[in-house]
Amino acid sequence: MSHIGEFDLIGRISASFNSSDGVRPGPGVTGIGDDCAIIPQRSGMDTLVTTDLLIEDRHFLLSDVDPWQLGWKSAAVNISDIAAMGGRPTASFLSLALPPDGIDVGWVDRFIAGFRDMSAKFGVPLLGGDTSASPDILFINVTVLGECPHGKALRRDSARPGDLVCVTGALGDSAAGLKLVLERAAAGPAAPLCHSERSEESSPCQALIRRHYCPMPRVPEGLALAACPGVHAMMDISDGIASDLRHILKASSGSGNGNLGPVGAEIDLRKLPLSEEMKHVCALRGWDPAELAVSGGEDYELLFTLTPEAFDAAAAAVRKASGGSIGITAIGSIVGSAADGQEPLIRWLGGARSDYKGFTHF
Ligand code: ADP
Ligand code: MG
Repeated sequence: MSHIGEFDLIGRISASFNSSDGVRPGPGVTGIGDDCAIIPQRSGMDTLVTTDLLIEDRHFLLSDVDPWQLGWKSAAVNISDIAAMGGRPTASFLSLALPPDGIDVGWVDRFIAGFRDMSAKFGVPLLGGDTSASPDILFINVTVLGECPHGKALRRDSARPGDLVCVTGALGDSAAGLKLVLERAAAGPAAPLCHSERSEESSPCQALIRRHYCPMPRVPEGLALAACPGVHAMMDISDGIASDLRHILKASSGSGNGNLGPVGAEIDLRKLPLSEEMKHVCALRGWDPAELAVSGGEDYELLFTLTPEAFDAAAAAVRKASGGSIGITAIGSIVGSAADGQEPLIRWLGGARSDYKGFTHF
C-alpha cells in the first residue's frame, strides 16, 4: 500500500461512494474527512460519530503495555475525536478480536476496567460491540458517539488567513514516551527505564510514558472553544502537527472557508509548548525536542485556529474549563497561499530545519 498512501486510499474509498447514486451522504451530513461524521437530528442537535482501530505491534506492544492503560487509551483516543469537534461524548461501542495466546480473563478484566475508568471521566456508557477470536494478534475497534448543537461542530475546513494557529497543553510528551517504551522493549524487561531513575513513579520518564499510554482527551476544553466566538477550525493531534496541520490547511483550501482561496501556515518552532519532563529527557538523551513535538503523534491535544482578537477569551475559557491546569499557546498563523492545487505549505520558522513530516500509516 505504500505506493498509494493512507490519505489517497481514503480518498478512493470516499470517491467510490460519492460517485454512486443512493449512497452519497444525505443533505447536511458531513462524511469522510473530519475527526467525526456529523449527522443532523430533528432534535436540533447534531450526532457525531468516530471510529478507530488499535492493532497489536502497530499501536502497542502487548508484552509492554499494561492492560488497564491499553483499555484507557482505546477509549481516550476515540473520545478525543469527539472533543476535536467541540462535542460531548454520549456512548461507545467496543469490538475485540482476541489472539489464542498472551491474554486471559484477568487481562480482559483489567482492560475493561481501564476502558471504563476513562469513559467514567466523561460519563460515556458502553452500549455494544462485537467479540471474535483472532488467528494471531489483538485487534481493538472502538466507536464513540457524541453530540453538539446543530451547526456548531468545529471542523477542519474553516481556517482563515490571519488566524492564529494554537494548541492546548504541551506537545511531544507522548512521542518521547514511545521512544522510551521502544528502548525498554529492545533492552529487555530488566533494563532500567532511565539512566539514573529506576522506578520512582514521579520520574520524568514515567511521566512521559504515562502521557503515551494514558492520554487525556480535551473534552471540556473542546466544549469551551466551541462556545468561543472567533474560533474557526479544530482537530485533535494524533499524528503530529506536521501531518495534522496539513489536514486543516488542505480542508480549508476548499470551499469551507468561504472561498477565501488556498491557505498555508507559518509555525514558529521557538513557540512550541514543551513540558519540563520532555525537555529534561531530551537533554539527557540528545533527542531533538522540536522533532518530537512536531512529528511525533498521539498527544491528543487540540489544534485550532482563531482570530487574534479571540485569543485572550479562548485562553481564559480553556483555563477555566480545565480547572486551571491547561493553557493554550499560539504557535503560528494561517496565511494566504499561492500554492493552488499543490500540497498545502507549512513554513517552519526559528529552527535548524525547514521541513518536518508527521506520522502516516503506509
Ligand atoms: P483521525 O486521526 O481523526 O481518527 P483519520 O486520519 O483516521 O482520522 O481519518 C480521516 C478521515 O477518513 C475520517 O473522517 C475517517 O472517518 C475517514 N476514514 C479513514 N479510514 C476510512 C475507511 N477505511 N473508510 C471510510 N472512511 C475512512
Ligand atoms: Mg482526530
